[in-house]
Amino acid sequence: AVTLVWFRDDLRISDNPALVAAAESGDDVVACYVLDEETEGIRPLGGASKWWLHHSLDALAGSLAELGVSLVLRKGPAEVVLPQLVDESGAHAVVWNRRYGLAERTIDAALKATFGDQGIEATSYQANLMYEPWEVTAGSGEAYKVFTPFWRACLVLRTPRRPLAAPEALHGPPPDSEALDAWHLLPTTPDWARGLRETWVPGEAGAHARLDDFLDDAAHGYKDNRDRPALQGTSMLSPHLRFGEISPFEVWHAAQDHKDPSTAEDIRVFGSELGWREFSWQLLYFNPELATVNYRPSFDGFAWERSTRDELTAWQRGRTGYPLIDAGMRQLWEIGWMHNRVRMATASFLIKNLMIDWRVGEKFFWDCLVDADAASNAASWQWVAGSGADASPYFRIFNPVLQSKKFDPDGAYLLRFVPELAEAENLHEPWKGSAPEYSPPIVDLKESRERALSAYKALSD
Ligand code: FAD
Repeated sequence: AVTLVWFRDDLRISDNPALVAAAESGDDVVACYVLDEETEGIRPLGGASKWWLHHSLDALAGSLAELGVSLVLRKGPAEVVLPQLVDESGAHAVVWNRRYGLAERTIDAALKATFGDQGIEATSYQANLMYEPWEVTAGSGEAYKVFTPFWRACLVLRTPRRPLAAPEALHGPPPDSEALDAWHLLPTTPDWARGLRETWVPGEAGAHARLDDFLDDAAHGYKDNRDRPALQGTSMLSPHLRFGEISPFEVWHAAQDHKDPSTAEDIRVFGSELGWREFSWQLLYFNPELATVNYRPSFDGFAWERSTRDELTAWQRGRTGYPLIDAGMRQLWEIGWMHNRVRMATASFLIKNLMIDWRVGEKFFWDCLVDADAASNAASWQWVAGSGADASPYFRIFNPVLQSKKFDPDGAYLLRFVPELAEAENLHEPWKGSAPEYSPPIVDLKESRERALSAYKALSD
């Protein structure tokens, strides 16, 4: 007998409940990944995510081969491809770990129904969120609107379960697979991925190495250092979590096990950041259009600036004339990731100083981030815009100068990504002195701030 394991956002062999179930069945195992770029509602991956996916699938195929099975790659609509694979392999059971977007859930439900009609058992498992979005709700089954009570209720409900060990060995026939290279997920001309290659090791081993490094080093002092972009002060686990190369249960318990009196507060704060990931997914589950529709409908009438192409390009390329914004956008371009504090500052700048619709920024990040996550990206952009849940109020406008003075006082982060500032007399406010290589600001902070505030006021009047 054969059990088919369908890998999706869970590209790992450890703490993978679907894989464990297949191994425990004693059946032959066929493992597959389906690249579905056709089903309506499935958001196409951005460029950086495609790069990551290629390497992550490569790593997963390697781990599965060591266990004794090969990874079958197929492209096409999941609702067509999965039944084909079941036919070809003669599987009597299909297992997968749950995903939470509307289009994804719709596909999974349809497949369960199809397989059910054919007498094929399809079973799904909880693997990628510590709390299912419908488990911890406010009042009678609604999503929480505020993070703190949500996370408190989660922790009261239960301690996240312990991670499961990877199966020791699997067996099964090797069905035909498409070639990963033929999916053309990697950039060719130009090859913009050098900085990504130098920064990241996609795959489960890379994820665990990051986690170990973090716990050995940056976890101590995380609470304060997490706001300092020049430091290696955060875990950089986000792309690994996004692709499920490591599970939140594994991260959670490794951090808890590492706790001692001197790091208890750091670990608590780190745990609550994992909580923000869970909160974002609850928001997306209950608001499937979170990436395109204002969570607060009052924002629907907001007067976004229309013709801002040059300003948008300056922001995208890190040429706004504001060092922190430029450093952040260039970090994103170079390594496919940006420090959280700088994500907030660059997003605030686009939305409030340039008055460009948050959706434009969300899309750009979606394309450039290796951790581009349907829930966290959308929820965070709406949070900065003020249109989201538990959002920072619209009148909170990050001042990029004060932010860099406070969080990067000696300018190490600025200089790393904007080397031409080395010539500037005044790092944080280069326009105040000679800065021969650096361009002047594209907007005035004070004027643009007032423009945003009055547009916001017009909305709420
Ligand atoms: P750590 O500080 O080490 O945190 C550990 C983990 O907790 C992260 O890996 C991540 O999974 C989770 N986490 C931390 N902060 C948040 C948060 N605010 N919201 C949700 N989860 C969080 N995060 C993404 O994973 N994908 C995105 O596409 C994304 N887009 C963002 C866009 C904007 C405008 C902003 C302001 C934030 C965005 N974030 C996103 C949240 C946050 O910036 C990143 O999760 C964090 O910077 C990742 O770095 P880290 O792994 O070192 O985080």
